[in-house]
Amino acid sequence: MLSSSPYVVVGAGIHGLSTAFHLARMLHERGVGSGEDIVVLEKTGAGAGASGIACGVVRNNYFQPAMSDLMRACVEVWESDPEAYHYNPVGYIALGPDVQEPDLVATYERQERIGYRSTLVTGEAEVDAHMKALFPDWRAKGVSVCLHEHQGGFAFNKESVRGLLRKAEAEGVRVLTGVTVTGFELAPDDSVRAVVTDGGRIAVGEQVVVAPGPWAKEFWRALELPERIDVRTPAGDVARDQPMWTYWNLQEGEITVDPAMFATASGGAPPVIHLDTDAPLHTDDGALVTDELWGIYFKRDRHGVQGGASPLVVEGDVELDPYPSTSDVDPSFPDMWCAALSHAMSRFEGCRPSYRTARSGGVGAFTVDNFPVFDFMRPNVYTILDSNHGYKMIGVGREVAKVLLGEHSSLLYPFRFERFATGDLHPVSHSPYPWS
Ligand SMILES: Cc1cc2nc3c(=O)[nH]c(=O)nc-3n(C[C@H](O)[C@H](O)[C@H](O)COP(=O)(O)OP(=O)(O)OC[C@H]3O[C@@H](n4cnc5c(N)ncnc54)[C@H](O)[C@@H]3O)c2cc1C
Repeated sequence: MLSSSPYVVVGAGIHGLSTAFHLARMLHERGVGSGEDIVVLEKTGAGAGASGIACGVVRNNYFQPAMSDLMRACVEVWESDPEAYHYNPVGYIALGPDVQEPDLVATYERQERIGYRSTLVTGEAEVDAHMKALFPDWRAKGVSVCLHEHQGGFAFNKESVRGLLRKAEAEGVRVLTGVTVTGFELAPDDSVRAVVTDGGRIAVGEQVVVAPGPWAKEFWRALELPERIDVRTPAGDVARDQPMWTYWNLQEGEITVDPAMFATASGGAPPVIHLDTDAPLHTDDGALVTDELWGIYFKRDRHGVQGGASPLVVEGDVELDPYPSTSDVDPSFPDMWCAALSHAMSRFEGCRPSYRTARSGGVGAFTVDNFPVFDFMRPNVYTILDSNHGYKMIGVGREVAKVLLGEHSSLLYPFRFERFATGDLHPVSHSPYPWS
C-alpha cells in the first residue's frame, strides 16, 4: 500500500475520475507533475456508486443561471469524446403546464444568450403539434410549454465511468479499488495531513479531493463539519438550525420492449423526454393514480425504455451499503410510471406487464438548498458534493483541477459553502423536483 501521494482523490465515480483525469493532464501540460502524482481511493469499484446507476440524462434545463452555465461547460466535455464517454447526443425535451411556463421561457432565453441550441414552443395546440411531428401518437394533456434542447441527451452510466477510468489511467493515475477511507488525520492548521484507510495511512503532499456521491454526509462528519447550519435567504431572513444533509430515494425503472418501438416518426433516436403536467393521471384500466401535478422522464435504453418520476424524501439516516439497495424504489412506482408513459404516447398503452425490476433507482444525498457544494472545506481538502445533480456534470472535475492548481473558476464559485451564511442562494423554480 502506498504511504504518500501529492494528490489523494476519494471516490471513483464521475467526479473523482474526471478530476483525476483533468488534473493529470494539467500537471503534465504545465510541466509541474503527472498522473503519477495522483491516487484515487475507491472502496468498491469504479462506478459502484451513484454514477453507475444514474439514468444518465444530460441536459442544460436549469432555471438557476449558475447551473445552466456550468452545464453548458459540462456538455462541452461530453461532446469532446462521445465514443469514450458512451454519450448519445439525442437532445432533451422538457414539457410542462402553465405554472412552469415562465421558468422555461427564462431558461430558453438564457440558452439563447449563452449559445446553447434549443427551441421554445408555447401554447397547448402548438406544443401538441411539435410533439406529434416527432411522435404521431403523442397524447399528453395539460402541457402548454416545451423546451426542446438540441444538445444533451444521455450516456450509458457504467460505460462512461469506465471510459473516464481508462483516460485517467492512461495519464498515469493510480486507481486503488477495495480501499476504504476511514478518516482523516488533521494537522494543527486544520489541514489534512493524512488520509486514513483500512489498508493504512497515506500522507498527503498537496491536496485531497473528496467526491463521495451519496456518502457525502459520512465525509462531512469525518471532516468535522456542522450537521446543522443557519441559512440566510436572499431577503435577509435566517432559517436557523437546518439539517445540512437530507436523503431522497430516486424512483427509476424500465420496461423491456423492443427499443426500436420508441423511435421518432422518421425512425431516428428519440430525445430524452421529461413531462410534467397537472392533467389527471389514470392507469390503462381507468383507475385514478393522481389528480395533482405529476412528472416523469424517460429515454430509449439498450433493453427498452428507462426512466423515473419524482423522488421520495427519506426521514433520518440511511444505510448506504450495499448501494443501491433493493428497497430504494417504492412499490407504487411501476403503476404510476407505466400509466404516465401510456398517458404520453399510445404506443406505451398496456406496457405495465413489461415493467422489469432492474438495478434502477437509488438514494441521493441532498444539501440544505438542494444545490451542490463545490468548495475547500479544509485548507487542503476540496469537496465535490453535487447534491445528486451530477452525473451530467462531467466537466466539474476539469474546473476543480484548475482550482487545485491555483486558478479561479467562475463556474464553481456560485457553489461555495459560504452562500448559506451570506444569502447568495440560487433561485428556486416551479418544478416539483429537488434538482431543477
Ligand atoms: C437512481 C439515480 C439516477 C440518477 N440519474 C441521473 C441522471 O440521469 N443525470 C444526472 O446528471 N445525474 C443523475 N443522478 C445523480 C448522479 O448519479 C450523481 O450526482 C453522481 O453520479 C455523483 O457522482 P460522484 O462521483 O460524486 O459519486 P459516486 O458515483 O457515488 O462515486 C462515489 C464513490 O465513492 C466511493 N466511496 C464511498 N465511500 C467511500 C469510502 N469511505 N472510501 C472509499 N471510497 C468510497 C463509492 O464506492 C463510490 O464509487 C442519479 C442518481 C441516482 C441515485
